Amino acid sequence: MSGQIDDMPPLRDVLDRYDLLAKKSLGQNFLLDLNLTAKIARQAGPLAGYDVVEIGPGPGGLTRAILAEGAERVIAIERDARCLPALQEISDYYPGKLQIISGDALSEQYAHLLARPARIIANLPYNVATPLLTGWLLSEPWPAWFSSMTLMFQKEVAERICATPGSKAYGRLSILSQWRTRPHIAFDVGPKAFIPPPKITSSVVVFEPIENPFPCVAKKLERVTQVAFGQRRKMLRASLKSLGGSALLDKAGIDGEKRAENLSVEEFVTLANLLD
Ligand code: SAM
Repeated sequence: MSGQIDDMPPLRDVLDRYDLLAKKSLGQNFLLDLNLTAKIARQAGPLAGYDVVEIGPGPGGLTRAILAEGAERVIAIERDARCLPALQEISDYYPGKLQIISGDALSEQYAHLLARPARIIANLPYNVATPLLTGWLLSEPWPAWFSSMTLMFQKEVAERICATPGSKAYGRLSILSQWRTRPHIAFDVGPKAFIPPPKITSSVVVFEPIENPFPCVAKKLERVTQVAFGQRRKMLRASLKSLGGSALLDKAGIDGEKRAENLSVEEFVTLANLLD
């Protein structure tokens, strides 16, 4: 079941050789099936002629698939120094194609690392998946430095990202995601695919950036969604009181008796644009 995408050793051997016992604190759940990592990499669209930014390559299962799919170069940011020798082996196998950055993806500036159009592909560490995603979604300037994102999340987070108004899962993450991208769930991955298996099902989400989203200052949209969904059961005229309440809603032409979960992305943008 390890797949035949290159002549490198099976990932199970790599884990044994470098004694890579997964650490929970780093959100480590490794994928060892190279058929599955190839399937994830293929969701991103063609990789020839692209730089790929990968967060958390770990022992390198997804990295190997991205390189085998023909990416021009992979820039892989890994926080766990124990993984670096395994990644160096991949770099030796694909000379000049893998740049390994030892560090924290949350504090990385990406745009300057890139030489050509870029895609983001990652099996994200669950503990920092949402802050990483929001950081990319709120990138300035827009269109941003990436032309697609193909990311693995907990299924519950994937459903929040893709949720539509009126549903329970619809919230701040849906609006920030759907303002600037078209996200869709490509497929689910069960716990057994990972070492160690997590308790939950995961999903791969593909985000296609929208070139001309409704004009809005990202920080204002963040603020209004945060306040509105902070009290999602309340009517908007009450939940948005600190931002102007009924006066703000009247200016926007939005019924103050509605709840946050009933507003479209465009209506949130209208509210954000009316903030000082
Ligand atoms: N890509 C590998 C795979 O699919 O098997 C590993 C995925 S594992 C879910 C997440 C990886 O992200 C781990 O290798 C972990 O060490 C790394 N990681 C955790 N926090 C990180 C951070 N802040 N910056 C960069 N890498 C991080």
